Amino acid sequence: MSKDQKIYKTFCPMPKMNSGMLTLEDLEQITEIVRRYEVPMIKVTGAQRLSYHGITPEKMAALKKELHIPETLPHKRNKVHYVQACPGKTWCKWGTKTTEEMTKAIENLELDGPLPNKVKVGISGCQLCCCESWMRDIGLLAEKRGWRLTFGGNAGNRARIGDLVARGLSDDEALELIKKVLNYYISKAQFTTRSARFMERFGIETLKKDLGIA
Ligand code: SF4
Repeated sequence: MSKDQKIYKTFCPMPKMNSGMLTLEDLEQITEIVRRYEVPMIKVTGAQRLSYHGITPEKMAALKKELHIPETLPHKRNKVHYVQACPGKTWCKWGTKTTEEMTKAIENLELDGPLPNKVKVGISGCQLCCCESWMRDIGLLAEKRGWRLTFGGNAGNRARIGDLVARGLSDDEALELIKKVLNYYISKAQFTTRSARFMERFGIETLKKDLGIA
């Protein structure tokens, strides 16, 4: 990019990034798009996605159309916004549990209705917590005895550590409990309230009592 070239403040996150785990075919497809649209800059985001930056608004509209990205976000509010996951036991020597299946299962979760606001999920395959699970709306972390589930974390302007909901969960138990917690959030929170603010108001003890968690 020459120093005289105009910088357009446009951006487009690449969908279906598989928590940042990419194959050669994925990289080739990304390279082909970058060449064809002459994307001047690509950002690796904190959410393990790639974001294309700086092309003209006309090209950006064409790119979004090609990638099937609607103009307004989030796209489907009865699904979580994104799942961020570490390589887990399959690829990391510290991993206690694999993360791929859980990532897909949570991405595919169909909830009872539209979520009040975006829900970000962080899955870490061991206690080193590389995916910042404590700071995500839903946090999963693998311990020797099973998954630890937290809810209500946030890394934004008013950062918050998530509340501990349960520990020692199997994959099925964790998935079932995530669904319960999110449907509870849907039924109780006002529209646009993030889970962190909701939990400040409701409190973990109320949530556990209402959901029958010991
Ligand atoms: S959280 Fe643990 S398993 Fe996951 S990448 Fe970090 S060290 Fe590896």
